[in-house]
Amino acid sequence: MALAFDDFGRPFIILREQESKSRLRGLDAHKANVAAGKAVARSLRTSLGPKGMDKILQSPDGDVTITNDGATILEQMDVDNQIAKLMVELSRSQDYEIGDGTTGVVVLDGSLLEQAEKLLERGIHPIRIAEGYEMASKIAFDHLEHISTRFEFTAANIEPLVQTCMTTLSSKIVNRCKRMLAEIAVRAVLAVADLERKDVNLDLIKVEGKVGGKLEDTELIYGIAVDKDMSHPQMPKRIEDANIAILTCPFEPPKPKTKHKVDIDTVEKFQTMRGQEQKYFDEMVQKCKDVGATLVICQWGFDDEANHLLMQRNLPAVRWVGGVELELIAIATGGRIVPRFQELTPDKLGQAGLVREKSFGTTKDRMLCIERCANARAVTIFIRGGNKMMIEEAKRSIHDALCVARNLIRNNSIVYGGGSAEISCSVAVEAAADRYAGAEQYAIRSFADALDGIPLALAENSGLPPIDTLTAVKSQQIQENNPYCGIDCNDVGTNDMREQHVFETLIGKQQQILLATQGKYAEI
Ligand code: ADP
Repeated sequence: MALAFDDFGRPFIILREQESKSRLRGLDAHKANVAAGKAVARSLRTSLGPKGMDKILQSPDGDVTITNDGATILEQMDVDNQIAKLMVELSRSQDYEIGDGTTGVVVLDGSLLEQAEKLLERGIHPIRIAEGYEMASKIAFDHLEHISTRFEFTAANIEPLVQTCMTTLSSKIVNRCKRMLAEIAVRAVLAVADLERKDVNLDLIKVEGKVGGKLEDTELIYGIAVDKDMSHPQMPKRIEDANIAILTCPFEPPKPKTKHKVDIDTVEKFQTMRGQEQKYFDEMVQKCKDVGATLVICQWGFDDEANHLLMQRNLPAVRWVGGVELELIAIATGGRIVPRFQELTPDKLGQAGLVREKSFGTTKDRMLCIERCANARAVTIFIRGGNKMMIEEAKRSIHDALCVARNLIRNNSIVYGGGSAEISCSVAVEAAADRYAGAEQYAIRSFADALDGIPLALAENSGLPPIDTLTAVKSQQIQENNPYCGIDCNDVGTNDMREQHVFETLIGKQQQILLATQGKYAEI
């Protein structure tokens, strides 16, 4: 170690050890990459499945997150290895595209890397491995289509959708209320879905949470819930058939700017200015009333004096409403956001059948619910829970359930879970391997072995002997020609996932296989 000085005389330290450090090359470099990837996958492996363990993560500033969601765990993990970062991206893409299966994709990736390591040791070139994996993933992709089934649902019969959402929720902390939450998620998605175009805009579903109560109190509000209350406690708590002005401009007299100088040296002058200000605001209130508004929702604040005046003039108002909420309110009520006060006209007002303030127990906590809106296609899921961590995790779990319901509306094909789809693909890929001459054949076989990683992890996490369970289920699948046999994680007494009602979406599973394979050219 040596002390040196830069051009400006600032001291800095040169570490001599850096010079003696060598760069990894060849097989060692590949192995180092694989090891990093495996380490990430190992940390998620224990979270997979209904008996998977939750993780407690602590951020550098001491915030604690409890979660079972792969994407969230990786997001919070401070990884600095470049391959590990690729895996974080992987689970993020799965989260973005599909919303569920974020743990599974990383576990599968880790399993593929593990197999790749063995192939590397046997002297097979990384490109050959990646190519073989690519071929195998196509076989698995098509096979998934082959074993998938379609189920029909209608707005009246939502049971199949609920069942699929329940599979997602069964591996989360909130599984105590999975039936209820799954129903809420499905109702919310159906409320905003366009079944004809098979499209769901999840932005129309707002997920809000408030500490207090219990998870069972979670409810679906057919409208918008905003974490705000009326600006004055004496304003009405219930407004029927409200006409809402949505303002993003200040709702107060213009303030003198600091670069202007106003000399007020007498009481009269002060009174005049005050009078002016009052008059200005009075006119603003009058303008709102003239256009027919019965409620003003404002992005900005107004001071206490203005607040008092609003109460006196009988114009209820809500202040400091965030931009996202404002946008949702505008969509739901069919109103227009007014950025300049002069532009306020009757046709820009939003309509809602009921605006009410909802209070919770004896606390001073209140929320504003805007219901029976003109455009009924915006809903809010309102989560209650014992603490902030619970609510955050419930939000993440509901997000997964919403995504699953959306995916099913887009494409109503499902495959069975509990590792059954992976085992079936593994058998199909293994059988297809012989058709390929060349080193790829090894990689294709390894891909089949890697697919077994998911059922192995599920069995291990459920306290079952992994190899014995997997081999038993695999031979059952082949003997009975039944691709729906999986790991009986919850000890229900049957391996048949059709009987257990454990479904996953086809597109979710296909995406997992594609994503886990695609990164291989870079990772190995
Ligand atoms: P991900 O974040 O990948 O969705 P999860 O922890 O939610 O990970 O676990 C999902 C896995 O658990 C899937 O492979 C699914 O098939 C399986 N699974 C969920 N519920 C059950 C169940 N009741 N029995 C067996 N396997 C299940």
